[in-house]
Amino acid sequence: MEEKGLSAAFERLNRSAFRRRFKLSAAMKRYVAEKGLETIRRHAEDFVRQRLAPAHPPNDGRQTPMKGHPVFLAQHATATCCRGCLNRWWHVPLNVPLTALQQQKIVNLILAWILRQVFVCRCCGACCRIPDGIVRVSEREIARIAAFLGEDEETFIAAETELSPDRKSLILKSRADGACVYLTEDNRCRIHPVKPDKCRTFPYEWTNPDSHHICPGLRVCSTGPDGMI
Ligand code: SF4
Ligand code: SF4
Repeated sequence: MEEKGLSAAFERLNRSAFRRRFKLSAAMKRYVAEKGLETIRRHAEDFVRQRLAPAHPPNDGRQTPMKGHPVFLAQHATATCCRGCLNRWWHVPLNVPLTALQQQKIVNLILAWILRQVFVCRCCGACCRIPDGIVRVSEREIARIAAFLGEDEETFIAAETELSPDRKSLILKSRADGACVYLTEDNRCRIHPVKPDKCRTFPYEWTNPDSHHICPGLRVCSTGPDGMI
């Protein structure tokens, strides 16, 4: 798949009225919650390996039912339902077996769609007050946040950022208790409309082994030990 990142992939999918119409029903959401995301991931890996990975999958074009399993719905929603869609949408070559990396990327896209369907943020702010958690900010993000706050970039950099521990980039400052300086008392983000990509994409596009302990929204939809998306 040549799409650069899950955000770009979902932006593209969202422009398709056909792909947008797929949603998980309440029963399907319950199924995901009961099984946990790690089990659903294993189901997705099996489906992709058996039904998509061969150079010439049996019944290609009709191998993915429209109902019966959340992964099937996710495959239609993400244009990973047959080799024709994979080729048209994600430029995956026809008539050759899928590599292990291609299969993994397809499964990641499927799981990311399912997580978007089932995840409910509790607005607890726990992900914004992780001791030693860091939020790197790019030049583009600095410009955007400074403009939002009505500050010039140099003032913003001096007052609100510091050098990362690995000295490779700037990060947002934290308070003494580890909370981000932009977290309000009622657990809102003061710069929500322009918050950095690192914040915007959690937990839809990245998690780490601690995320399920930290985030109550993730805990209820995954029973896996690490749940890497
Ligand atoms: S910028 Fe906003 S979302 Fe990101 S850590 Fe700070 S308060 Fe949380
Ligand atoms: S820790 Fe999870 S549930 Fe809490 S605010 Fe962050 S994303 Fe939402």
